[in-house]
Amino acid sequence: MRIDSILRERRTLSFEVFPPKQEHDGDLSGIRGTLAALTAASPDFVSVTYGAGGQNRPRALEIAEIVLSLEMTPLSHLTAVGYTKEDTARVTGALSRLGVENVLALRGDVPADMKFPQDPWVDFRYALDLVKFIAPQRFCLSGAAYPEKHPESPHPDRDVEVMSLKERAGVSFFITQLFFDNDLFFKFRDGCREAGVHAPILAGIMPIFKAQQIRRIVEISGCSVPAKLEAILDRYADNDAAMKDAGSDYAASQITELWSGGVEGVHIYTMNKSSQVLDIVARSGLREAKP
Ligand code: FAD
Repeated sequence: MRIDSILRERRTLSFEVFPPKQEHDGDLSGIRGTLAALTAASPDFVSVTYGAGGQNRPRALEIAEIVLSLEMTPLSHLTAVGYTKEDTARVTGALSRLGVENVLALRGDVPADMKFPQDPWVDFRYALDLVKFIAPQRFCLSGAAYPEKHPESPHPDRDVEVMSLKERAGVSFFITQLFFDNDLFFKFRDGCREAGVHAPILAGIMPIFKAQQIRRIVEISGCSVPAKLEAILDRYADNDAAMKDAGSDYAASQITELWSGGVEGVHIYTMNKSSQVLDIVARSGLREAKP
C-alpha cells in the first residue's frame, strides 16, 4: 500500500529496522522473528535502512520482502552516494518487481571504510537529485528532515528550503532525525508550515536502551539532551534494567505528548529490538488513542 494514501486517512505508527551485519550473512531468521513480533502493534508501515554505497543491498531487499510476506507495508530507504543513474534504476526496478511502493530517498554519507573508484557523487549530489530521478516512476516518495538542523547546513532555514524543494519535486511525507526534546520538534514543524512545507512530518523516536548508546548517538547526531533525560542517563548509567525502564517511560511520554500535539505520525527506530519497542507502544497508549 502507498503510505501517502494511508496518511490521507489517519496518523501513523511505523518502525525502522536495519539489515543484520555482514557476519550474520544469509541468516535472516533473527530479523524475521523481530518483524513477526512487531506485527503485534499493527504498524502502518515498516522502513528498511540501506547502507550508503549499497553495502547491504541484497539484504535490504530481502528484508523488504519479509515485511511484505508478513502483510505489512515496506518503505525502502535508498541512498544516492556512489550510485549512478543505472545503479539506481537497477535497485528501483528490483523494488518494483518485489511490490515495494514506497521509497525514502536519501543522500547518504560517504562511509569511512569505502573507497570509490570515482567521485562518490557520480550522478546525484543531493537527495533532491535522487528524488527528481525517481519521481517519474510510480513510487510514493519520502525524505529526511532535521528538527535540529543537518550537521552540514549553514542554517536551519536552509534545511526547510530543501524540504520545500523536495516536496515540489514529488516527496509526499518526511521522517525526522531522532530527537529527545519535543519542544524543538513542534517549533520545527511550525516553522516548516510557515515556510510552506505542507507534507506530513513524522517524528523519529529513538528508544533509550543504554546510557552509552545514547551518549554515542548524541555525539554523532548532535541532538539536544533535555535536563530530564540527562538526569536519567546519569542516575541509571550503571543499572541497565532501571535504565531500560526509565528509558521506555521517557520514549512513551515523548510519543504521548507528540500525539496530543497533533503529530502526523510516530516512527520508532527499533534497533531491531521488538520487546522494548512493543512495551513503549503499550505505555504510550498510542494504539488505544483515536487516529
Ligand atoms: P540532503 O537532503 O541532500 O541534505 C544533505 C545536506 O545538503 C544538508 O545540509 C542540506 O541542507 C544540503 N542540501 C540539500 N540539498 C541541497 C541543494 N540543492 N543545494 C545546497 N545544499 C543542499 N543514511 C544511510 O546511509 N542509510 C539510511 O538508510 C538512512 N536512513 C535515514 C533515515 C532518516 C529518517 C534520516 C533522518 C536519515 C537517514 N540516513 C540514512 C542518514 C542520511 O543519509 C544523512 O543524514 C545524510 O547526511 C543526509 O541525507 P539527506 O537525504 O538528508 O541529504
